[in-house]
Amino acid sequence: MDLPDYAIEAEGLVKTYPATKTTPEMRALKGVDLKIPRGAIFGLLGPNGAGKSTFINILAGLCKKTSGTVRIWGRDIDERPRDARAAIGVVPQEIAADPFFTPRESLEVQAGMYGVPPGERRTMELLEALGLADKASAYVRQLSGGMKRRLMVAKAMTHNPPVLILDEPTAGVDVELRRQLWAYVLELNRKGVTIVLTTHYLEEAQELCDQIAIVNRGEVVACEPTTTLLRRLDTRNVIVLPEEPLAAAPQLAGFETRLRPDGSFAVTYRTGQSSVEQVLAAVRAIGLHIKDISTEDPDLEDVFVALTTATEKAPA
Ligand code: ADP
Repeated sequence: MDLPDYAIEAEGLVKTYPATKTTPEMRALKGVDLKIPRGAIFGLLGPNGAGKSTFINILAGLCKKTSGTVRIWGRDIDERPRDARAAIGVVPQEIAADPFFTPRESLEVQAGMYGVPPGERRTMELLEALGLADKASAYVRQLSGGMKRRLMVAKAMTHNPPVLILDEPTAGVDVELRRQLWAYVLELNRKGVTIVLTTHYLEEAQELCDQIAIVNRGEVVACEPTTTLLRRLDTRNVIVLPEEPLAAAPQLAGFETRLRPDGSFAVTYRTGQSSVEQVLAAVRAIGLHIKDISTEDPDLEDVFVALTTATEKAPA
Protein backbone atom coordinates (compact mmCIF):
# COMPACT_ATOMS: atom_id res chain seq x y z
CA MET A 1 0.00 0.00 0.00
CA ASP A 2 1.28 3.46 -0.85
CA LEU A 3 1.97 5.57 2.19
CA PRO A 4 0.57 9.10 2.09
CA ASP A 5 3.00 12.03 1.96
CA TYR A 6 1.00 13.76 4.65
CA ALA A 7 -0.25 12.20 7.87
CA ILE A 8 -2.84 14.95 8.13
CA GLU A 9 -4.08 17.45 5.56
CA ALA A 10 -6.62 20.15 6.30
CA GLU A 11 -7.88 22.51 3.62
CA GLY A 12 -10.04 25.54 4.27
CA LEU A 13 -11.10 24.13 7.62
CA VAL A 14 -13.76 26.24 9.29
CA LYS A 15 -15.45 25.72 12.64
CA THR A 16 -18.12 28.05 13.88
CA TYR A 17 -19.66 27.42 17.28
CA PRO A 18 -23.23 28.71 17.16
CA ALA A 19 -24.32 31.53 19.45
CA THR A 20 -25.97 30.63 22.72
CA LYS A 21 -28.14 32.75 25.01
CA THR A 22 -25.04 33.98 26.80
CA THR A 23 -22.30 33.81 24.15
CA PRO A 24 -22.06 35.16 20.61
CA GLU A 25 -21.21 33.00 17.59
CA MET A 26 -17.56 31.95 17.73
CA ARG A 27 -15.43 31.36 14.63
CA ALA A 28 -12.84 29.07 16.23
CA LEU A 29 -11.18 28.04 12.93
CA LYS A 30 -11.24 30.51 10.06
CA GLY A 31 -10.17 28.48 7.04
CA VAL A 32 -7.15 26.53 8.26
CA ASP A 33 -4.78 24.96 5.71
CA LEU A 34 -2.35 22.61 7.34
CA LYS A 35 -0.23 19.76 5.99
CA ILE A 36 1.49 17.56 8.53
CA PRO A 37 4.18 15.43 6.85
CA ARG A 38 4.33 11.70 7.52
CA GLY A 39 7.01 10.90 10.07
CA ALA A 40 7.18 14.39 11.58
CA ILE A 41 7.05 15.50 15.17
CA PHE A 42 4.75 18.39 14.55
CA GLY A 43 3.98 21.09 17.09
CA LEU A 44 0.71 22.96 17.05
CA LEU A 45 1.41 26.06 19.04
CA GLY A 46 -0.82 28.88 20.16
CA PRO A 47 -2.21 30.75 23.14
CA ASN A 48 -5.36 29.67 24.94
CA GLY A 49 -8.36 30.04 22.70
CA ALA A 50 -6.34 29.82 19.47
CA GLY A 51 -8.35 26.85 18.20
CA LYS A 52 -5.92 23.99 18.87
CA SER A 53 -8.38 21.76 20.74
CA THR A 54 -11.09 22.46 18.19
CA PHE A 55 -8.72 21.25 15.46
CA ILE A 56 -7.80 18.11 17.40
CA ASN A 57 -11.43 17.40 18.29
CA ILE A 58 -12.38 17.56 14.60
CA LEU A 59 -9.63 15.04 13.81
CA ALA A 60 -10.78 12.80 16.65
CA GLY A 61 -14.38 12.93 15.44
CA LEU A 62 -15.52 14.64 18.64
CA CYS A 63 -16.46 17.91 16.97
CA LYS A 64 -18.18 18.47 13.63
CA LYS A 65 -16.45 20.85 11.26
CA THR A 66 -18.49 23.60 9.64
CA SER A 67 -16.74 23.35 6.26
CA GLY A 68 -13.48 22.43 4.57
CA THR A 69 -11.83 19.07 4.07
CA VAL A 70 -9.66 16.94 6.32
CA ARG A 71 -7.72 13.84 5.40
CA ILE A 72 -6.07 11.63 7.99
CA TRP A 73 -3.52 9.23 6.52
CA GLY A 74 -5.03 10.00 3.13
CA ARG A 75 -8.56 9.15 4.27
CA ASP A 76 -11.22 11.84 4.02
CA ILE A 77 -13.04 12.18 7.35
CA ASP A 78 -16.39 12.67 5.59
CA GLU A 79 -16.00 9.84 3.10
CA ARG A 80 -14.22 7.29 5.32
CA PRO A 81 -14.79 8.42 8.91
CA ARG A 82 -14.03 5.04 10.50
CA ASP A 83 -10.84 4.45 8.53
CA ALA A 84 -9.73 8.01 9.17
CA ARG A 85 -10.26 7.68 12.89
CA ALA A 86 -8.50 4.29 13.02
CA ALA A 87 -5.37 6.04 11.78
CA ILE A 88 -5.03 8.29 14.84
CA GLY A 89 -4.66 7.84 18.54
CA VAL A 90 -5.56 10.88 20.61
CA VAL A 91 -4.30 11.56 24.10
CA PRO A 92 -6.84 14.02 25.47
CA GLN A 93 -6.09 16.97 27.69
CA GLU A 94 -8.29 15.72 30.47
CA ILE A 95 -7.53 12.48 32.26
CA ALA A 96 -10.57 10.30 31.71
CA ALA A 97 -9.59 6.98 33.24
CA ASP A 98 -12.21 4.54 34.42
CA PRO A 99 -11.62 4.12 38.17
CA PHE A 100 -12.96 0.57 38.25
CA PHE A 101 -10.60 -0.92 35.68
CA THR A 102 -7.01 -1.95 36.16
CA PRO A 103 -4.59 -0.56 33.56
CA ARG A 104 -4.48 -3.98 31.91
CA GLU A 105 -8.28 -4.17 31.67
CA SER A 106 -8.47 -0.60 30.53
CA LEU A 107 -6.16 -1.33 27.58
CA GLU A 108 -7.95 -4.56 26.72
CA VAL A 109 -11.32 -2.80 26.64
CA GLN A 110 -9.88 -0.04 24.46
CA ALA A 111 -8.33 -2.55 22.04
CA GLY A 112 -11.65 -4.38 21.91
CA MET A 113 -13.44 -1.15 21.02
CA TYR A 114 -11.13 -0.75 18.04
CA GLY A 115 -11.66 -4.36 17.02
CA VAL A 116 -8.09 -5.47 17.69
CA PRO A 117 -8.20 -9.29 17.97
CA PRO A 118 -6.89 -10.67 21.32
CA GLY A 119 -3.86 -12.28 19.61
CA GLU A 120 -2.74 -8.93 18.23
CA ARG A 121 -3.11 -6.86 21.38
CA ARG A 122 0.02 -5.37 22.86
CA THR A 123 -1.27 -4.68 26.34
CA MET A 124 1.82 -5.70 28.34
CA GLU A 125 4.21 -4.24 25.79
CA LEU A 126 2.48 -0.88 26.10
CA LEU A 127 2.36 -1.01 29.88
CA GLU A 128 6.07 -1.79 29.98
CA ALA A 129 6.97 0.93 27.51
CA LEU A 130 5.20 3.47 29.71
CA GLY A 131 6.62 2.20 33.00
CA LEU A 132 3.30 0.81 34.19
CA ALA A 133 4.04 -2.92 34.09
CA ASP A 134 4.11 -3.24 37.89
CA LYS A 135 0.77 -1.44 38.08
CA ALA A 136 -0.93 -3.67 35.50
CA SER A 137 -3.34 -5.05 38.09
CA ALA A 138 -3.74 -2.00 40.33
CA TYR A 139 -6.99 -0.05 40.26
CA VAL A 140 -6.71 3.06 38.17
CA ARG A 141 -7.89 5.16 41.11
CA GLN A 142 -4.75 4.02 42.96
CA LEU A 143 -2.46 5.48 40.29
CA SER A 144 -0.77 8.84 40.60
CA GLY A 145 -1.72 11.64 38.21
CA GLY A 146 1.40 11.03 36.15
CA MET A 147 0.70 7.31 35.87
CA LYS A 148 -2.84 8.02 34.73
CA ARG A 149 -1.51 10.29 32.06
CA ARG A 150 0.88 7.63 30.81
CA LEU A 151 -2.01 5.20 30.78
CA MET A 152 -3.85 7.62 28.49
CA VAL A 153 -0.91 7.47 26.08
CA ALA A 154 -0.97 3.67 26.19
CA LYS A 155 -4.72 3.71 25.52
CA ALA A 156 -4.25 5.95 22.50
CA MET A 157 -1.76 3.44 21.06
CA THR A 158 -3.73 0.19 21.56
CA HIS A 159 -4.85 0.02 17.91
CA ASN A 160 -1.35 0.82 16.70
CA PRO A 161 -2.25 4.00 14.81
CA PRO A 162 0.37 5.58 12.52
CA VAL A 163 -0.43 9.02 13.97
CA LEU A 164 -0.39 9.94 17.66
CA ILE A 165 -1.89 13.22 18.83
CA LEU A 166 -1.04 14.63 22.23
CA ASP A 167 -3.16 17.52 23.43
CA GLU A 168 -1.18 19.58 25.98
CA PRO A 169 0.51 16.42 27.24
CA THR A 170 2.70 17.94 29.90
CA ALA A 171 0.43 20.50 31.54
CA GLY A 172 0.86 19.83 35.24
CA VAL A 173 3.34 16.98 34.71
CA ASP A 174 6.61 17.01 36.66
CA VAL A 175 10.02 17.13 35.01
CA GLU A 176 10.96 13.48 35.55
CA LEU A 177 7.71 12.27 34.11
CA ARG A 178 7.94 14.63 31.21
CA ARG A 179 11.31 13.13 30.31
CA GLN A 180 9.86 9.61 30.43
CA LEU A 181 6.91 10.58 28.32
CA TRP A 182 9.11 12.24 25.70
CA ALA A 183 11.51 9.28 25.63
CA TYR A 184 8.59 7.06 24.71
CA VAL A 185 7.17 9.51 22.19
CA LEU A 186 10.57 9.87 20.51
CA GLU A 187 10.90 6.09 20.42
CA LEU A 188 7.51 5.82 18.71
CA ASN A 189 8.58 8.46 16.23
CA ARG A 190 11.76 6.53 15.46
CA LYS A 191 9.56 3.56 14.66
CA GLY A 192 7.72 5.71 12.14
CA VAL A 193 4.77 7.11 14.10
CA THR A 194 3.88 10.69 13.19
CA ILE A 195 3.50 12.79 16.32
CA VAL A 196 1.31 15.87 16.61
CA LEU A 197 1.45 17.76 19.85
CA THR A 198 -0.30 20.88 20.99
CA THR A 199 1.29 23.04 23.60
CA HIS A 200 1.61 26.61 24.68
CA TYR A 201 5.15 26.03 25.88
CA LEU A 202 7.37 27.38 23.13
CA GLU A 203 10.40 25.76 24.74
CA GLU A 204 8.92 22.30 24.62
CA ALA A 205 7.97 22.62 20.98
CA GLN A 206 11.38 24.04 20.17
CA GLU A 207 13.13 21.09 21.75
CA LEU A 208 11.00 18.30 20.32
CA CYS A 209 9.32 19.31 17.12
CA ASP A 210 10.90 19.34 13.70
CA GLN A 211 8.01 21.43 12.35
CA ILE A 212 5.84 23.99 14.07
CA ALA A 213 2.58 25.65 13.14
CA ILE A 214 1.57 28.70 15.11
CA VAL A 215 -2.16 29.22 15.40
CA ASN A 216 -3.68 32.47 16.56
CA ARG A 217 -7.38 33.32 16.71
CA GLY A 218 -8.34 30.44 14.44
CA GLU A 219 -5.70 31.15 11.81
CA VAL A 220 -2.34 29.59 11.00
CA VAL A 221 0.12 32.49 11.19
CA ALA A 222 3.24 30.42 10.56
CA CYS A 223 3.99 26.84 9.56
CA GLU A 224 7.56 25.85 8.92
CA PRO A 225 10.51 23.75 10.06
CA THR A 226 11.50 24.66 13.61
CA THR A 227 14.95 25.90 12.58
CA THR A 228 13.45 28.29 10.02
CA LEU A 229 10.87 29.51 12.50
CA LEU A 230 13.47 30.14 15.18
CA ARG A 231 15.40 32.32 12.81
CA ARG A 232 12.25 34.40 12.46
CA LEU A 233 11.88 34.67 16.22
CA ASP A 234 14.57 37.28 16.27
CA THR A 235 12.53 39.73 18.29
CA ARG A 236 13.59 41.58 21.41
CA ASN A 237 11.75 43.88 23.75
CA VAL A 238 12.89 47.22 25.01
CA ILE A 239 11.00 48.24 28.13
CA VAL A 240 10.76 51.99 28.49
CA LEU A 241 9.62 53.65 31.70
CA PRO A 242 8.79 57.30 30.97
CA GLU A 243 9.15 60.09 33.54
CA GLU A 244 5.36 60.37 33.53
CA PRO A 245 3.49 57.00 33.45
CA LEU A 246 1.45 56.68 30.25
CA ALA A 247 -2.25 55.89 29.91
CA ALA A 248 -1.88 54.44 26.42
CA ALA A 249 0.92 52.86 24.43
CA PRO A 250 2.61 55.53 22.31
CA GLN A 251 2.75 55.28 18.54
CA LEU A 252 6.32 54.76 17.40
CA ALA A 253 7.13 54.83 13.72
CA GLY A 254 8.03 51.32 12.59
CA PHE A 255 7.60 49.56 15.95
CA GLU A 256 4.94 47.63 17.84
CA THR A 257 4.34 49.00 21.33
CA ARG A 258 2.40 47.61 24.26
CA LEU A 259 1.45 49.39 27.47
CA ARG A 260 2.24 47.66 30.77
CA PRO A 261 0.27 48.02 33.99
CA ASP A 262 2.99 50.11 35.67
CA GLY A 263 2.79 52.82 32.99
CA SER A 264 5.88 51.61 31.14
CA PHE A 265 5.66 50.22 27.64
CA ALA A 266 7.35 47.47 25.66
CA VAL A 267 8.72 48.10 22.20
CA THR A 268 9.22 44.98 20.11
CA TYR A 269 11.88 45.08 17.45
CA ARG A 270 13.50 42.56 15.12
CA THR A 271 17.19 42.14 15.78
CA GLY A 272 17.93 41.59 12.11
CA GLN A 273 16.16 44.79 11.10
CA SER A 274 16.72 47.38 13.80
CA SER A 275 18.54 48.03 17.03
CA VAL A 276 18.00 49.37 20.56
CA GLU A 277 19.59 52.53 19.24
CA GLN A 278 16.82 52.97 16.67
CA VAL A 279 14.14 52.21 19.26
CA LEU A 280 15.54 54.93 21.50
CA ALA A 281 15.71 57.37 18.62
CA ALA A 282 12.03 56.69 17.87
CA VAL A 283 11.12 57.25 21.55
CA ARG A 284 13.04 60.53 21.63
CA ALA A 285 11.46 61.60 18.36
CA ILE A 286 8.04 61.75 20.04
CA GLY A 287 9.50 63.87 22.83
CA LEU A 288 9.21 61.35 25.63
CA HIS A 289 11.53 61.66 28.64
CA ILE A 290 12.92 58.30 29.67
CA LYS A 291 13.28 57.45 33.35
CA ASP A 292 14.50 53.91 32.95
CA ILE A 293 15.09 51.40 30.22
CA SER A 294 15.74 47.64 30.07
CA THR A 295 15.64 44.84 27.52
CA GLU A 296 14.19 41.38 27.71
CA ASP A 297 13.83 38.27 25.59
CA PRO A 298 10.49 37.82 23.91
CA ASP A 299 7.82 35.42 25.11
CA LEU A 300 5.36 33.60 22.94
CA GLU A 301 3.05 36.60 23.07
CA ASP A 302 5.70 38.80 21.46
CA VAL A 303 6.33 36.21 18.82
CA PHE A 304 2.66 36.36 17.92
CA VAL A 305 2.75 40.12 17.80
CA ALA A 306 5.74 39.99 15.49
CA LEU A 307 4.29 37.28 13.27
CA THR A 308 0.78 38.64 13.01
CA THR A 309 1.91 42.16 12.24
CA ALA A 310 4.41 40.76 9.70
CA THR A 311 1.50 38.91 8.08
CA GLU A 312 -0.65 42.04 7.95
CA LYS A 313 2.10 44.13 6.43
CA ALA A 314 3.17 41.56 3.85
CA PRO A 315 2.10 42.48 0.32
CA ALA A 316 -0.80 40.41 -0.96
P1 ADP B 1 -7.27 26.21 22.34
O1 ADP B 1 -7.33 24.72 22.40
O2 ADP B 1 -6.24 26.71 21.38
O3 ADP B 1 -7.14 26.84 23.68
P2 ADP B 1 -10.07 26.04 21.61
O4 ADP B 1 -10.15 25.26 20.35
O5 ADP B 1 -10.39 25.35 22.88
O6 ADP B 1 -8.64 26.75 21.71
O7 ADP B 1 -11.05 27.30 21.49
C1 ADP B 1 -11.09 28.16 20.37
C2 ADP B 1 -12.23 29.14 20.55
O8 ADP B 1 -13.48 28.46 20.45
C3 ADP B 1 -12.23 29.81 21.91
O9 ADP B 1 -12.64 31.15 21.74
C4 ADP B 1 -13.24 29.03 22.69
O10 ADP B 1 -13.85 29.85 23.67
C5 ADP B 1 -14.23 28.63 21.63
N1 ADP B 1 -14.87 27.33 21.93
C6 ADP B 1 -14.25 26.15 22.16
N2 ADP B 1 -15.13 25.17 22.39
C7 ADP B 1 -16.36 25.72 22.31
C8 ADP B 1 -17.70 25.23 22.42
N3 ADP B 1 -17.95 23.95 22.69
N4 ADP B 1 -18.70 26.12 22.28
C9 ADP B 1 -18.46 27.41 22.01
N5 ADP B 1 -17.24 27.93 21.85
C10 ADP B 1 -16.19 27.12 22.01
